[in-house]
Amino acid sequence: MKCKKHNNEANSICMNCGIALCNECSEVTISGKNCCSSQCSIAINRVEKIANLTLDRATKGAKAASYGSYLLAFIFFGFAIYSGLYGIPFLGWYMGLFSIGMATMGYFYQRSAKTQLSVNNTAE
Ligand SMILES: [Zn+2]
Ligand SMILES: [Zn+2]
Repeated sequence: MKCKKHNNEANSICMNCGIALCNECSEVTISGKNCCSSQCSIAINRVEKIANLTLDRATKGAKAASYGSYLLAFIFFGFAIYSGLYGIPFLGWYMGLFSIGMATMGYFYQRSAKTQLSVNNTAE
């Protein structure tokens, strides 16, 4: 693959428009991506900023959902014990199952928040 401007052998491509770049015409963005011009550099930075923001929000959302699920699990667990103590075993089992379900959901949310965090860290 040859560079369009210099007829040199290309060694990278622009991350924004995908054209072939040689050493002479390749520029590098703040995050170290190859690009052909300052316009492309700006475009790449903008996309990366939005991607990071979205990841950040998704991570916070998953964290909040995980705390919410744990809280519900705790409340239902309380109900389960209460029902058991006051002689309503059927309701106790029901609430107990619900609390286990909520705790499982909390665990999965927490895990997804962690994976998103590690993706964030490798991107920086
Ligand atoms: Zn470009
Ligand atoms: Zn070139």
